[in-house]
Amino acid sequence: MTFENYKKWLKKVPVDVKIVFSGMVEPWLNKDCTKMLLYAYNQGYKKIGVFTTTMGMSLEDFRKIKKIPFTVFYVHLADAEGNTKIKVDEKYLKLLGEIKKSNIKNKKYMAMGKLHPKLKPLFSDIVEKVTMQTRAGNLDFLPQVHKNGPIQCCWPDGLKHNVLMPNGDILLCCVDYHMKHVLGNLSRNSYASLFTSREFKRIVKALENKNRGDVICRRCEFATVNNNYNQKSLYRETLNYLHLTGKLSRIKSLLNNK
Ligand code: SF4
Repeated sequence: MTFENYKKWLKKVPVDVKIVFSGMVEPWLNKDCTKMLLYAYNQGYKKIGVFTTTMGMSLEDFRKIKKIPFTVFYVHLADAEGNTKIKVDEKYLKLLGEIKKSNIKNKKYMAMGKLHPKLKPLFSDIVEKVTMQTRAGNLDFLPQVHKNGPIQCCWPDGLKHNVLMPNGDILLCCVDYHMKHVLGNLSRNSYASLFTSREFKRIVKALENKNRGDVICRRCEFATVNNNYNQKSLYRETLNYLHLTGKLSRIKSLLNNK
């Protein structure tokens, strides 16, 4: 995505929308990522988040952004099981060391499996161990899920955590790797019209009733089943969410350390 296009499309997005540097690829593999992030902040977007392995990010990049009051700054660390392909070299370790000692707001760390041995001295007591998910069925080597009945997305922003693609298309969700659900394009459409678009309306119907069409959410761990919605199912879904995001083990270890 070019910086010029990014500026043009961002202008269409209301300033109270959360801008998250994440998505389907590593954000800092775009050489203008730091510039884009600072631009959003200076334009008045105050809810800015980051999900990154730090690949492509330099120390200089980090120093430029560390004062931003991020809603979340989530670092995906190298693991010892080869699940994440990260080169654990001096440069990487130096950057992680700087992130760790910084006062950057709302920073968190996760790993897919056992932490890489070289990272243990820095992170073993604070890393969240996260379970790999199917990404709505895209990772077909994992056990698949299928949800029946009326469902909804259990992410806090529901159907409004969308992805801006390099051509201006807006996808429903960051796990929509096949680009099945395109809500519109910011070159042609307004932000508000994305949520009145034909595709958006079709998705809402398909969430209510599986016979009204296919939607990737039926294969997603983060969809909750709404029928017979009562305290028991709410409890089960909340536990499921905490487990899948690695937060359950964190809560347990905090309670054990009391
Ligand atoms: S239920 Fe899953 S696939 Fe659907 S919008 Fe939420 S996170 Fe994305």
